[in-house]
Amino acid sequence: MAVTEEAVLAALKTVIDPDKQRDVVTLGMVQGLTVRDGHVGFALEVERERGPKLEPLRQAAERAVEAVPGVLSVTAVLTAQAAPSRQQPGPRPQAQPGKILAPGVKSIIAVASGKGGVGKSTTAANLALALAANGLAVGVLDADIYGPSMPRMLGISGRPSSPDGRTLEPMRNYGLKVMSMGFLVAEDTPMIWRGPMVQSALQQMLKDVAWGELDVLVVDMPPGTGDAQLTMAQQVPLAGAVIVSTPQDIALLDARKGLNMFRKVDVPVLGIVENMSYFLCPHCGKRSDIFAHGGARKEAERLGAEFLGEVPLDIVIRETSDEGRPVVVSRPESAHAEVYRRMAQRIWEKIGGAARKAPPRIVVQ
Ligand code: ADP
Repeated sequence: MAVTEEAVLAALKTVIDPDKQRDVVTLGMVQGLTVRDGHVGFALEVERERGPKLEPLRQAAERAVEAVPGVLSVTAVLTAQAAPSRQQPGPRPQAQPGKILAPGVKSIIAVASGKGGVGKSTTAANLALALAANGLAVGVLDADIYGPSMPRMLGISGRPSSPDGRTLEPMRNYGLKVMSMGFLVAEDTPMIWRGPMVQSALQQMLKDVAWGELDVLVVDMPPGTGDAQLTMAQQVPLAGAVIVSTPQDIALLDARKGLNMFRKVDVPVLGIVENMSYFLCPHCGKRSDIFAHGGARKEAERLGAEFLGEVPLDIVIRETSDEGRPVVVSRPESAHAEVYRRMAQRIWEKIGGAARKAPPRIVVQ
């Protein structure tokens, strides 16, 4: 029996926070919910000072979800609403100027979305491939630690090696260097991510991976705009962020949250990508605007962010990314691939890459 997010949330609504006498869903404590083939993972976000005494609440949440028919495993972790954790005394970890996490990486961009399922990972994979197609050295860091999808989308399996026993070699395919939690933990193994680990995962994956020289590292962020995402956005020196949104109003509201999150931490928003913008019928080629198309463009204008482009809802995009052959590499001649390449070009220009990269003109007379 397929387990749905709704069923999990309904179960979590029966779990009452002892201090606040309301359920954990209503209190907005449930973050990063992932349901995959009966395996459920989520974090309960709590105020830091309450963390140590809320282990029973975490266990109660796990038990409630375990009772949902079809659930095979549950991993619930407590995350602190405000870093640092008790085990990590000292100032909140931040991207300090001058602190070099990945010395050979020229710029890091985040691909983010206000909520899951809008095509953030599909966009991140295709944009990374499009940046590479435009001649750049590109890496992908799958920071979606709750539901890593880059191994599948980029058609990579196996485990990274560590020749020196300290750093991990990134995996490779289609000319990209790739690292994902999905390589380190088997897909059906529930991940045990304690709060501090969730918050430092991105830094660790930057520090402990032998990225070498890269023009750009594309980070596929976990969906949402909670504290885990905010901390990630703060922890690394991001050159900018790309927000992926679907046209539905609700998604746009979420997109706005994403935008505000990056602005709050002074990360430039490079623009908004409207995904599943309109429907292209695979049979007749007819275009239908099934979700009020154009909403993202208007919203982007209103919010003063650039509208980077629109990608249709097309079965080709779904099939190719789910089969590990994203459209930019499997159908480079297609209109979709062209859209991604144009967006990649614009992103590269915006982070100042084009100017930096331009070779000196040597005129021989
Ligand atoms: P997210 O990272 O936001 O959770 P994904 O990139 O995993 O979303 O996409 C969710 C599903 O939607 C995947 O099966 C993906 O192949 C599909 N998908 C994403 N973008 C499109 C699109 N433009 N057209 C058709 N299917 C898409």
